[in-house]
Amino acid sequence: MASKEAHQSTGWAAGLIAAAIVSQASASGPLHVWSILAFLMGYAGGGAPDWLELSWWSSGRGRHSWISHRTVTHWGIAWIALLVTSYYKLRHSPVMALPFGFAAGGIMHLLADWPNPLGVPWLWVSKRHSLNWWKSGRADWIIMGAAWMVALVMADRVWFHSTGIHAIEKLDVIRLSPFRR
Ligand SMILES: [Zn+2]
Repeated sequence: MASKEAHQSTGWAAGLIAAAIVSQASASGPLHVWSILAFLMGYAGGGAPDWLELSWWSSGRGRHSWISHRTVTHWGIAWIALLVTSYYKLRHSPVMALPFGFAAGGIMHLLADWPNPLGVPWLWVSKRHSLNWWKSGRADWIIMGAAWMVALVMADRVWFHSTGIHAIEKLDVIRLSPFRR
C-alpha cells in the first residue's frame, strides 16, 4: 500500500476537492459549514479503506484485521456509487456533503493504492487490478504531488474564479513584492 502519510496527505487533498465541489454546487451553507465538513470527511475517507479493515473490538492482542486486505473496503464501485449518489442529493440536502467528502477521500485512497503491485478491486471485489507502476510506497511523492495539484487548481477555480496566476495577483503578492516596478 501507499504509506500512511501518503494516504493522509492525499486525503486532505481529496477533502479540498470535495469542499470545492460542494461550494460549486451552491451547497456550502452558512459560514461554509458543509464545505468544511466535506473537507474533514475527505481526510477520514482517505484512510477509511484501510482502517475499516481493522476490528473495532480488542481481542487481547489489540486490534486485528477482520476483513482481508484490499477486498471489500477497497471496492471501487461501492465508493463511486456513494460519491455519485451523494452528489446528486447535495442540492436538496446539503448534509450529503459528508458522505460526498468521505467518498472523495475513499476514491483518492484507491487511486493511491492502484499503481502498487497488489492493485485495487475496482469492478469485482475478488479481482484486483494493478497499474504496476512501482513497488509499494516507492513513489508516494508523485501521488501526493498529483493530488495536491488537482486540489489546488480546483480550489483556485472555485474560490478565486481564475487560473493560478490570477489568484496570486488577487492575493496581492505581486503588488506587495519587492520586485514590483
Ligand atoms: Zn489501502
